[in-house]
Amino acid sequence: MSGDLSMSSAVELASKIRSGQISSVAVVERCLERIDSVDSGLGAFLHVDREGALQAATRIDKTVKNGNEAGPLAGVPVAIKDIISVQGLPTTCASRILEKYVSPFDATVVTRLKAAGAIVIGKTNLDEFAMGSSTRSSAFQLTRNPWDTTRVPGGSSGGSAVAVSAGMTPIALGSDTGGSVRQPAALCGISGIKPTWGTNSRYGLVAYASSLDQIGCMGRTAVDLAATLSIIAGYDPLDATTGPAVSIGTPQTLLSVDVAKMRVGWIPKLLDAAVDPEISSAIRLAAAMLAKEVGQVTESALPFADQLTPVYYIIAMSEASSNLSRFDGVRYSSRAEQDGDGLNELYTRTRGAFFGEEVQRRILLGTHSLSAGYYKQYYEQASRVRRLVQQALLQEFRNVDVILLPTTATPAGPIDGEIDPVQTYRSDQFTVAANLAGLPAISIPCGFSIDGLPIGLQAIAAPHREDVLLSLAHRWQQLTDWHDRRPVV
Ligand code: GLN
Repeated sequence: MSGDLSMSSAVELASKIRSGQISSVAVVERCLERIDSVDSGLGAFLHVDREGALQAATRIDKTVKNGNEAGPLAGVPVAIKDIISVQGLPTTCASRILEKYVSPFDATVVTRLKAAGAIVIGKTNLDEFAMGSSTRSSAFQLTRNPWDTTRVPGGSSGGSAVAVSAGMTPIALGSDTGGSVRQPAALCGISGIKPTWGTNSRYGLVAYASSLDQIGCMGRTAVDLAATLSIIAGYDPLDATTGPAVSIGTPQTLLSVDVAKMRVGWIPKLLDAAVDPEISSAIRLAAAMLAKEVGQVTESALPFADQLTPVYYIIAMSEASSNLSRFDGVRYSSRAEQDGDGLNELYTRTRGAFFGEEVQRRILLGTHSLSAGYYKQYYEQASRVRRLVQQALLQEFRNVDVILLPTTATPAGPIDGEIDPVQTYRSDQFTVAANLAGLPAISIPCGFSIDGLPIGLQAIAAPHREDVLLSLAHRWQQLTDWHDRRPVV
């Protein structure tokens, strides 16, 4: 099958389909073949919508044949993280509590992708309710890193990252609350962007921590990310946190900021003993290469670096404890057997039986930090530090246009063995700042470890400067070929 497809970009495919050079049915069939041949070993998809995808592809081909407008992503397959609603398909959030839930509506981002001609090929695996960094907390299956199947793909959007990395789809959506688009993108050798909070509608995204959640795009190149983001972004009357003023621009404008004038900050101090030496040298090399391309490279800072992870987890868990209270066995979710002990007992049994360990841990800790005796000490305090982080970062963006840092401190870890929750939380140290401050951030491939594992370069920009990130990423991908390398699966 499709050596070609696993290298084709979404933009190339759309242009060939629109001009009638290839059919969307052929593209979808090749993705399905690829899924059939590799996904039993990788576990990226929880649900593949064969029939729906082929029917949609047939419609697109007809539209093209009739000479009508088929949309900027005409006939291009897209995989959707299974926490984003797609009408008629399961939305399980990789949780037993939603195992039988089928969504009656499309998330706004999905409505927009479909209107642009894209074809939903399936729903991808994740950490349960997007809580995790390895996709291991899915209630249903493990997802393996295509570069080394004894390793995790990262998380929580691990399924989407693997689907793109292994050539099962050119593009995918994920959600990013504390790094869940960027971190798996880095560990699987692809590109991923989380836009400014409020850019993409969250209508139809099952909430984890609403003040941090954003839907993000995953693909092989900055060009594909720009094409996808320009479609899904923008004001949605169904999500009041997308302002009418949000305008992301066209794929062309997103890629056309003058890199030669950019002021780039990097943080050599961060690349200390706690960061894997191979990652440190890849980031140093990237900064040195970019120094020849951009206006200036200066030393920057990640404010409150030591506080970021604790602050993030207090806020994320607090919001999660509130958001997940809707899964009570009465409204949406699976229900435990009841033997007449009353409503509280029903809630307790249901939530005890159908939520996994990590989700229960977070609900408990979040409830604790919101409770009367501890609110001031934890939630309020964390919210204060969050504001300081925001202010300090905005201040920093007066001096620089972009801050470069690693996406992760280590390459992908082993898939077997105990999960140490605190150790796992710490691994989010470089990604959570962008969520706490609501800033756009991207991860792009910038090298490989000696064991052949991908390394990600992260860039953060000022609010609504996705164009800066994508233009820089695009230039980087003209200079390097890390994004063109494919795992052998
Ligand atoms: N690893 C982080 C967490 O577990 C981030 C998850 C995410 O972005 N959804 O909360």
